Amino acid sequence: MKIRTRFAPSPTGYMHIGNLRTALYEYLIAKAEGGDFLLRIEDTDQKRFVEGATEIIYNTLRTVGMKWDEGPDIGGNFGPYVQSERKSIYAEYAHKLVELGGAHYCFCSKSEADEEKNEELNIKFQDPCKFISLEEAKQRIANGEPYVIRQTINKKGKSKYHDEVYGDIEIDYDELDEGVLLKSDGFPTYNFANVVDDHLMNITHVVRGNEYVSSTPKYNLIYEDFGWEHPHYVHVPPVMKDAQHKLSKRNGDASFQDLVAKGYLPEAIINYIALLGWNPGTEQEIFSLEELKQVFSIERLSKSPSIFDITKLTWMNGCYIRAKSFEEFYQLTLPYYADLPSNVNLNALTKTLQPRIETLAQIEEQIDFVKELPQYENELFFNKKMKTDTEIAKSVLPSIKEVLSAQNEWTNEALFESLKSLAEKLNVKNGQILYPARIALSGKETTPGGATEIAVILGKDETLKRIDTAIEKLA
Ligand code: GLU
Repeated sequence: MKIRTRFAPSPTGYMHIGNLRTALYEYLIAKAEGGDFLLRIEDTDQKRFVEGATEIIYNTLRTVGMKWDEGPDIGGNFGPYVQSERKSIYAEYAHKLVELGGAHYCFCSKSEADEEKNEELNIKFQDPCKFISLEEAKQRIANGEPYVIRQTINKKGKSKYHDEVYGDIEIDYDELDEGVLLKSDGFPTYNFANVVDDHLMNITHVVRGNEYVSSTPKYNLIYEDFGWEHPHYVHVPPVMKDAQHKLSKRNGDASFQDLVAKGYLPEAIINYIALLGWNPGTEQEIFSLEELKQVFSIERLSKSPSIFDITKLTWMNGCYIRAKSFEEFYQLTLPYYADLPSNVNLNALTKTLQPRIETLAQIEEQIDFVKELPQYENELFFNKKMKTDTEIAKSVLPSIKEVLSAQNEWTNEALFESLKSLAEKLNVKNGQILYPARIALSGKETTPGGATEIAVILGKDETLKRIDTAIEKLA
């Protein structure tokens, strides 16, 4: 049997981290076994539809390299892959289900809001319409009376099914609500569309949030009534913000797009979220998508919720940044260099940044002094550990300037050697030269790299200009 999974997002906005993780697990379950990964857009809840959200879904999956084998844009043998284009299919099957006794026509004028409230409060709706004979119901429909199709649950006892993560689940049939399957506007509810689509699209494994664990028995009844087999279920626990709260886009928690904007690399995000709820059973933490495909297994999914830990993701992102080739990293930094002056040695700057940053967004704060010498106070020259102060700075800066002016080879090594020799000559510690030079060049206490690295980044002219500025300030 070929494994087939589907990612079935509702186009409601940015890609939430929990959703992306679901997509990843769907992708890995299929790809670990050479199966198919499908994309299906679940847009039947027209109230929640957000313009442009489908594009966000496509772009996110493309950016992280999760290629889908069938989907709205590329088609496939089981389309259409957008639920709003499948209305006639749901109608056909809903009416069929009525004939099979698994659903009935309902004429109650219950509003959708009431319906949702019931679902939230877990109130089981006792539908009087299920006692209307089919003939009478058809007559009322023929007379133009508005109706919905509602599930009929006559079974008694316990419903059982197996979940790949949570194990055997038992729920009393009496607890199941006879919910709407087809609304009066002809749109299906999730409760119906997921079954019809997963069956017609030959889905073998359904991966989704554990909020669906308790309604899955209703779906299984529909499968049963149609005489279909239900897929394997892989319900996953939520991604948490802390011990009590789910990570949620409604609360403004970071989406994939937010994280990318904050300078996290897509491959690091994928690596990190793979481990939020799954473990490889080894100490290894860094996995490319390709590697994940090799080692992923459903058995290692965890049923306890995991907390999204931005510190861990930041650490991991730093590992990815450092593992990039110079050229790859350089390409990533370019947007941050947009308004640097032309004297700046971008190669040197990039080399200095790569080992020092953990997110691309940190580049901004690291390079502010490169763009323009910040305002600084002379007290900055005071550093106890380096044994420097304004007096030392005043005395060494002119000699530093002299040495640097005479310098032909403008490399970190050559500059370092020259300043070291100067320290020897003046009989001071290296730090008593290098620290004042660093302050003069950057106006900052902490910088990416030392004085000579900064000098290379700034270029000779700018370096000498900034030393002059410092000498004047100290005078
Ligand atoms: N559209 C549903 C959601 O976004 C999909 C759930 C599922 O994967 O079945 O929650």
